[in-house]
Amino acid sequence: MKVVKSKKALKEEIHRAKKEGKIIGFVPTMGYLHEGHLSLIREAKKECDYIVVSIFVNPKQFNSEEDLKKYPRDFERDQGLLRQENIDLLFLPEIEEIYPEEPKIYLDIPSLTNKLCGIYRPGHFPGVLLVVLKLFHLVEPHKAYFGKKDYQQYLIIKQMVKDLDLDIDVIGCSLIREESGIALSSRNARLSPNGYSDALLIYRALNIAKKEWQKGERNPENLKEIIKDIVETGALNRVEYVEIVDPNTLESVKEAKEGDLIAVAVYTENVRLIDNIELRGES
Ligand code: AMP
Repeated sequence: MKVVKSKKALKEEIHRAKKEGKIIGFVPTMGYLHEGHLSLIREAKKECDYIVVSIFVNPKQFNSEEDLKKYPRDFERDQGLLRQENIDLLFLPEIEEIYPEEPKIYLDIPSLTNKLCGIYRPGHFPGVLLVVLKLFHLVEPHKAYFGKKDYQQYLIIKQMVKDLDLDIDVIGCSLIREESGIALSSRNARLSPNGYSDALLIYRALNIAKKEWQKGERNPENLKEIIKDIVETGALNRVEYVEIVDPNTLESVKEAKEGDLIAVAVYTENVRLIDNIELRGES
């Protein structure tokens, strides 16, 4: 595994790989890697023969200085994990390398960003779009892999690629959970043991609502109420939103149907956690 920190060195490596006819698979991350990230890398390896991972805690997508400061980081441990996965190239830039000066451009896809997380995190998705577009230009991947844990992000990136005619295949990968059911997230590291046990209620609530839907409950308001009530039995939990949306438009639905997505954001202690589940006939 080669580790590069500059855009120049990154491009040199990429151009060399391209000259050799390699199919480049790209997995952008903010580090503090877990099995969710590694699952994206393993998907990439199935279809590509040169795997690039980036680790960059992108200040432009954080809403508060405190959240940015508290975001967990362990670049040494991350490099060990990536070596075990046998990736080809790690791009690990400093902030100044990505933003040598304040960018003037502002990217947005309002019809997708004015919903769910976008309502509560103004500027977050424009920050994501900016860094991902920059990374796409630098890495020039054939395929890029995103987790459906951040379902809205995945959809927004897919739309950007379509609207801008980028020649990149955006691939959505399954949400990975711990055995306990909790969605893997770098932010989980910030939970206390009590916070962790309250956070378990999130997936439990999503599953109970899904079961109610399977039994015939179609009213989104009732399903949302079930989730909110269960999650908020955790003393440390505060539901930010729970919505049932069309998976293509993210519009709230009037009747919950097969394929719709239940998406939630919950503050557990001071940690913002998101999760989602697809409504399907089978469990
Ligand atoms: P992050 O480091 O949180 O920015 O995440 C980097 C990539 O990993 C994004 O595409 C995320 O959607 C994906 N990811 C994070 N957690 C999970 C998970 N539990 N399951 C699947 N993908 C994930």
